[in-house]
Amino acid sequence: MMKISPLFIISSSVLFVALFSATPTSAHFFPNITSIPKSLIPNTTAWDRFNKLAGCEFGQKLDGLSKLKQYFQRFGYINQSFLNFTDDFDDSLESAIKIYQQNFNLNATGQLDGPTLQHITRPRCGNPDIVNGTSSMNSGKAAGNTTSPNIHTVAHYSFFPGRPRWPRGKTELTYAFLPANQVEDVVRTVFANAFGRWSEVTPLNFTETSSYNAADIKIGIYSGDHNDGEPFDGVLGTLAHAFSPPSGLLHLDGDENWVIDGDFLNAPSLASAVDLESVVVHEIGHLLGLGHSSVEESIMYPSIASVTRKVELTPDDIQGIQVLYGSNPNSDGPQPTLTPSNEKDSGGSHGLTASWVLLTAGLLLLLPMIL
Ligand SMILES: [Zn+2]
Ligand SMILES: [Zn+2]
Repeated sequence: MMKISPLFIISSSVLFVALFSATPTSAHFFPNITSIPKSLIPNTTAWDRFNKLAGCEFGQKLDGLSKLKQYFQRFGYINQSFLNFTDDFDDSLESAIKIYQQNFNLNATGQLDGPTLQHITRPRCGNPDIVNGTSSMNSGKAAGNTTSPNIHTVAHYSFFPGRPRWPRGKTELTYAFLPANQVEDVVRTVFANAFGRWSEVTPLNFTETSSYNAADIKIGIYSGDHNDGEPFDGVLGTLAHAFSPPSGLLHLDGDENWVIDGDFLNAPSLASAVDLESVVVHEIGHLLGLGHSSVEESIMYPSIASVTRKVELTPDDIQGIQVLYGSNPNSDGPQPTLTPSNEKDSGGSHGLTASWVLLTAGLLLLLPMIL
């Protein structure tokens, strides 16, 4: 069990206050892909540089490998305690690559081959795939699932460590946008649609409220470092992140070129455009308690190619969320079978998950002192 120290409560409270003093951004929302100005489309993004590492092998030293190790550390594939990375292709890197390949249904060779780099450079959710060394994706599943590529077994959904969820009986959840973001109605509609997709398959209902501070779910758009330890990184790279229940925080990277209408048929060359609803549906999954899934078609798969729309919940997503909340009692349609899960309570969660659970607890403890 986690113990909450007074020092942690104080430092968490400082973080909480710092987050809300971070400067929010006015995001780049565009009605469609053709309305994105050319000036906002970069030639390269931060992760493109990894492509030059193609073919680099174990034992070699190559400029840029240390940055790749940082990437793997960020998403949980290298222990957080490692601080000074070298440009050597060493055991830690090879191990990280193998686990990554297992999680993303690639041949687990430990080599920087083309398909692996293609996945690594793809824009993705900022939440890590592995928390405290425990993976909820393929690499953390039962033996037999971990060595073969392209496995698509039925259930790959996962939860945060400890399987947090919104309290039983609390089926009405409110959400609000950070007032400083001045979010327009078309964006609100996208969020309403995204929440509706999860509402359809659970007993949960989501209602927008204008009272940001009182809302269960707080949505903010930030650029770069916004004081929660998970800085955004400009165009592409990480797109968004969200915290486990009941923290209710969902952050979008304000530097992305977010597209509202999701129609990418006519302008495939604009590689930096990101479909807003696709990312929001994924992040809501985290807000409700889901971690990342190795099922590539699922909403909870960690990455999404730019200029791609993926908004429909798959059976994997639905089974996962119904393990936590059950099905929608008002639904007429066929409900996916709800079976007890022996999934591990792990992984796919935000790097600060435990911190935020503690932070919430800390704030609750501090409340009587504030009031
Ligand atoms: Zn995610
Ligand atoms: Zn954030």
